[in-house]
Amino acid sequence: MRFSRAFIPTMKESPADAEIPSHKLLIRAGFIRKKASGLYDILPLGVRVLHKIERIIREEMDRAGAQEVLLPIMHPAELWIESGRWDVYGKEMIKFKDRHERDYALGPTAEEMITDLVRKEVKSYKDLPLNLYQIGRKFRDEIRPRFGLMRAREFIMKDAYSFHVNDEDAEREYWNMYETYSRIFKRMGLEFKAVEADTGEIGGKFSHEFMVIADTGESKLVYCEKCGYAASTEKAAQRKPEVPENRESEFKECQKVHTPNVKRIEEVSEYLSVPPERILKLLVYIVDGEAVAVAVRGDREVEETKFKQVFRGKEVRLATDEEIEKFTGQPKGFLSPIGLSIPVYADYSVIPMVNFVAGAGEKDYHLQNVNWGRDFVVKEFIDVAEVRGGDSCPNCGAPLIEKRGIEVGHIFKLGTKYSEAMNATFVDENGVEKPMVMGCYGIGVTRVMAAAVEQNHDDDGIIWPYEIAPFHVIVIPVNVKKEEIRNTAEEIYETLQREGFDVIIDDRNARPGFKFKDADLIGIPFQVIVGKKASEGIVEIKVRKSGERFEVPVKEVVKKIR
Ligand code: ATP
Ligand code: MG
Ligand code: MG
Ligand code: MG
Repeated sequence: MRFSRAFIPTMKESPADAEIPSHKLLIRAGFIRKKASGLYDILPLGVRVLHKIERIIREEMDRAGAQEVLLPIMHPAELWIESGRWDVYGKEMIKFKDRHERDYALGPTAEEMITDLVRKEVKSYKDLPLNLYQIGRKFRDEIRPRFGLMRAREFIMKDAYSFHVNDEDAEREYWNMYETYSRIFKRMGLEFKAVEADTGEIGGKFSHEFMVIADTGESKLVYCEKCGYAASTEKAAQRKPEVPENRESEFKECQKVHTPNVKRIEEVSEYLSVPPERILKLLVYIVDGEAVAVAVRGDREVEETKFKQVFRGKEVRLATDEEIEKFTGQPKGFLSPIGLSIPVYADYSVIPMVNFVAGAGEKDYHLQNVNWGRDFVVKEFIDVAEVRGGDSCPNCGAPLIEKRGIEVGHIFKLGTKYSEAMNATFVDENGVEKPMVMGCYGIGVTRVMAAAVEQNHDDDGIIWPYEIAPFHVIVIPVNVKKEEIRNTAEEIYETLQREGFDVIIDDRNARPGFKFKDADLIGIPFQVIVGKKASEGIVEIKVRKSGERFEVPVKEVVKKIR
């Protein structure tokens, strides 16, 4: 590609409505232009990036056994009425009528369309499993389109849907897609996390969002570096401890033990020989006259504020000694507002299985082998994660790290929601008719482009990850009027092309400073600068990401870049 003939309208200033770097830079560097709210023209550089993103997706989806299809964007209302979503999807769906007054929608997602295709063609277990995907436009009339391609009203999505004979096979495919998505985003050179996500009305534990880590992301996530737990903050806040069955047979007698005056978590930790991050304090609160126990860690006041938020509108106060006595049925001093120290292993769900040391935070008021369920009762487990502000890992107790992220992908086990509603059945090997078990898997293709910029830029412009860069190399002759410079540049341009690189040559008759600025702004990973030393057969290579520059003989350019 020759810059002089390319349609790359770069700009000095960013538009007033662009708030975040990716939006500003994609416009300034000539990748996109706004048409109307949430609607964008994608220019040649943008299309090149999208094609690279799509190529990686196609290669990995095909390799994972999925097959590409292309369904209409115009969805007949009947299908959405059948699934029950025509009226509930809401205003995000763009609806219209054709000349015969029939209702249609511009597809925001395609479960109905794909289920309709598969139910007509697939009849037997022999035809399953099936994973079909498409890459195409989706329409959502977002309430607040913003951040350019990030939240648009028309965007490109890769959406895949899988069909299975049973839950087990749907789960196998779910993890197959999980691995595939991980490979896809890794190949794109993005820093991302797969986080446990809300499964909404469908329920179950099979939903992950793939988040590109970026400060400007609209989503929040938490993760644990120790055990790998990662969740969206909504999901983390929902996590409720499961209370196991009655385990009375495992209970032992409590013994009163002589203890030093343990009060602070650190002291309890030392006394119990349990790491501090595994110690929780059980506090007893009175909420509207009812006793509620809450496990907290760290500063009580901070935790208490959060706790009060959970029980907003209710009277919340710490229980008195007398109330604790009444509540636990234990003598005074057994528990006090200072708390009960609990070593927590693995998960909240094992709290009842642990023999605790309960303490009043006072000398000689500690009991060993105290058991939940027998010696004290938690009337109601409130949302511990929310009270704790999600600050420690529910799996291992290590501190959780909170970051912002951009949702670039989402995988979901759908179960039989659509197949039952739309009668997508098959006949199993015993001749029994059953609904297919489904999964769905989406990637926001245009959002990935914005997310990549959000994560990879500096003051001078975009820094494309090599795999999705519009060009790998830009050759910059500093002065096209000098024959030697021009010829050397042309020669390098041709060689690089022959070697399979995507190359653009900035053959414009312009000042070098102007060309360098554009090259930095557009963010091509390598710049080959051809200047005065061309006569000696020497050119300069600049690495966009590190800013590193070095001189190389013309003959070694290919070797250096590769
Ligand atoms: P969000 O939470 O950002 O609104 P979503 O959960 O509604 O996204 P999904 O229904 O899971 O989105 O769609 C799959 C993928 O499509 C998302 O993970 C995201 O990458 C992309 N996507 C969704 N809405 C938009 C949009 N308005 N503009 C660009 N990409 C989008
Ligand atoms: Mg949405
Ligand atoms: Mg979402
Ligand atoms: Mg989603």
